[in-house]
Amino acid sequence: MTAAAPEAALTSDSDALLSTEALTKHFPTKDGAGVIHAVNGVSLTLRRGETVGVVGESGCGKSTFARLCLRLIEPTSGTLAFDGGDLRALSPAALRARRRDMQIVFQDPFASLDPRMRVGAIIREPLDIHGVGTRADREREVQALLARVGLPPDAAQRFPHEFSGGQRQRIGIARAIALRPKLLVLDEPVSALDVSIQAQILNLLAALKRELGLSYLFISHDLAVIRHISDHVAVMYLGQVVEFTDVETLYARPAHPYTEALISAIPQPDPSRRRQRIVLKGDLPSPESPPPGCPFHTRCPKAWDSCRTVVPADLDIGEPGRPHRVRCHLHDPALAATRPAG
Ligand code: SF4
Repeated sequence: MTAAAPEAALTSDSDALLSTEALTKHFPTKDGAGVIHAVNGVSLTLRRGETVGVVGESGCGKSTFARLCLRLIEPTSGTLAFDGGDLRALSPAALRARRRDMQIVFQDPFASLDPRMRVGAIIREPLDIHGVGTRADREREVQALLARVGLPPDAAQRFPHEFSGGQRQRIGIARAIALRPKLLVLDEPVSALDVSIQAQILNLLAALKRELGLSYLFISHDLAVIRHISDHVAVMYLGQVVEFTDVETLYARPAHPYTEALISAIPQPDPSRRRQRIVLKGDLPSPESPPPGCPFHTRCPKAWDSCRTVVPADLDIGEPGRPHRVRCHLHDPALAATRPAG
């Protein structure tokens, strides 16, 4: 195993496990003539032991953000700190060593598991790569991991195609926790599963978090799932975090019109708690040419002239010690005063 190079300290907040500041990723378009603004200046902190949910429509940049956080793709600009160290400053070898502490689980476990490898070898692979213990130690650990994720001992001898979608996701999780990471990035980990299986996997993730002291960055388009698992939630729209707060506040008092619309669409079995559904006009604009001013103005039911020209500031409207960040002029008294009555 390669020893990690000393990392420059990037944050003095010892509680922060993952921290990004103005993290940005722009891709060139296929013809090279334009730029896709996939992630635009995201600043986010994930504290040790907590789950931060990142939610938004398909194409909002949340999966790109997840990959940036692990440096699976290189940021265009911005800072990225993990466990107090500057992740962007690491050499490729030092980064590989650091990844021991930060693992990812993908949406489609079938695509992320090598179909030619037996499940035991798939789960053992990270232990082999990092030279953990003897071969016998690693075989024992594979059995312990199978038991921990609720799979039988003989699963080690079988191939991924012999398992259901939920079981394959358990294999992916066993592999991801094999090195006892500090952070798991979960990219739509239950989106491909039936609702009853989703609940089982979410319960497994909650138990593993408690038992192993993990922290999660949980990416999903599903606000009901995000509500179930998260401590804090970041709502993304066109590559930006437009609202960030604790889960109770977000669902009780959403401050951004986009969040309001997403929450209004969650099925609510109790009629007395149903909100009036807010139907958004049009599709998500192309990240190649995001609208000027507030990027949400083309679909926002509350937009007025200022929204079309002035970029909203990142405002904190929370109480002391309870951040509630929102990018919307409705919460900026000077700009809100320019809104026509009615
Ligand atoms: Fe809507 Fe304007 Fe707020 Fe943007 S700034 S979310 S367009 S009200």
